[in-house]
Amino acid sequence: MPHSMLSFLDITPDSHFPLQNLPYGIFSRPGESARAGVAVGDWVLDLAVLEFGGFFDHPLLRGFAPFSQDSLNRFMGLGKPAWQVARRTIQELLAADNPLLRDDGELRGRAFHPRNQVLMHLPAHIGDYTDFYSSREHATNVGIMFRGRDNALMPNWLHLPVAYHGRASSIIPSGQDIHRPYGQLVEGSSTTPIFSPSRQMDFELEMGFFVGPGNDLGRPIAVDEAPNHIFGLVLVNDWSARDIQRWEYQPLGPFNAKNLATSISPWVVPLEALEPFRTPGPAQEPKPLTYLQSVGDWAYDIHLEVQLQSEMMDTPLTISRSNFRYLYWNMPQQLAHHTITGCNMRPGDLLASGTISGPEPDSYGSLLELTWRGERPIPLPTGEQRQFLADGDRVTMTGYCQGKGYKVGFGEVTARLLPPAG
Ligand code: CA
Repeated sequence: MPHSMLSFLDITPDSHFPLQNLPYGIFSRPGESARAGVAVGDWVLDLAVLEFGGFFDHPLLRGFAPFSQDSLNRFMGLGKPAWQVARRTIQELLAADNPLLRDDGELRGRAFHPRNQVLMHLPAHIGDYTDFYSSREHATNVGIMFRGRDNALMPNWLHLPVAYHGRASSIIPSGQDIHRPYGQLVEGSSTTPIFSPSRQMDFELEMGFFVGPGNDLGRPIAVDEAPNHIFGLVLVNDWSARDIQRWEYQPLGPFNAKNLATSISPWVVPLEALEPFRTPGPAQEPKPLTYLQSVGDWAYDIHLEVQLQSEMMDTPLTISRSNFRYLYWNMPQQLAHHTITGCNMRPGDLLASGTISGPEPDSYGSLLELTWRGERPIPLPTGEQRQFLADGDRVTMTGYCQGKGYKVGFGEVTARLLPPAG
């Protein structure tokens, strides 16, 4: 590893948060207000303390106090040159050969908090949330189940990144549990609905990116400009009630099935930290229209895992292993398509990938696919089995890039499904 990436902190090779990562988040401690921090090893580096100490006194950051806010929106809005200045500054401050922080015990005491002792909040005030449907494997699997093998992919799917406008208000940080929702569902081939708690609660393994700085209304973001508007990525669990979805989704797409909650991981990994893990995406045939043609490699090699733990289990069971690189449509294409009408993006908007399924049955990113709509239940070590989620089940997703001797990780997004409320 390059010398400059050695820190005076003790960071193990297995840590998700070495100097190569430095993800941003919003945290608080008891009785204190929320502010920005960076995860490094087992610590949170308090950026508000450093900001107050004048360490970010740079023309691109001066006067904005981006790290003393209770969200990262302002920082996201400052744009890539400002993000680069902040990242360099933090990397230099943490470097093994820099005495500034290393040898100042008083400052160190104020600037570092044990990561397991802070409360994590949503990283941004999310104004708008869009959910794509960019995994060919996922779209094909769902298509086969709902429409048969011959009509699995809709005619538009290979020509544009399909998406719907999601619900931002119910995006929640990792650790917050959710309740099984009530809704309308139909039994068998009936066309008369009943009102019931969902019987087919599912997760969706996704990743999402935060937008910054964004565009003015009427001015699309070109596909080759799009990377300058991607601040960073988080893990996303897009909870889904399959039975509610099956009844409601035509003709305008999912509504109640998806608006109950969407969980995200608290640490936003900067796009720059993922640069070494860029890799070619799947070949795109037919060739997309010109405005969607991205040049270069825009897939990322990010290992993803889903773990399930029932109330009876002592430890979680890994039920899926996938990879962000499987996605057919890449992030620049998603952003270019989203804004081609002139639709404006604002700092803090969240664009999620859609369920990330791989080619193998154990790489599918939802229970719907893993159990093939319940036909192949997953056996658990306790003798239980799962077609869909049961009350008390905990779903945890994690992900990381593997470097030479280090990881750039995303931590985790976790939550339990509780029984229906009241
Ligand atoms: Ca989704």
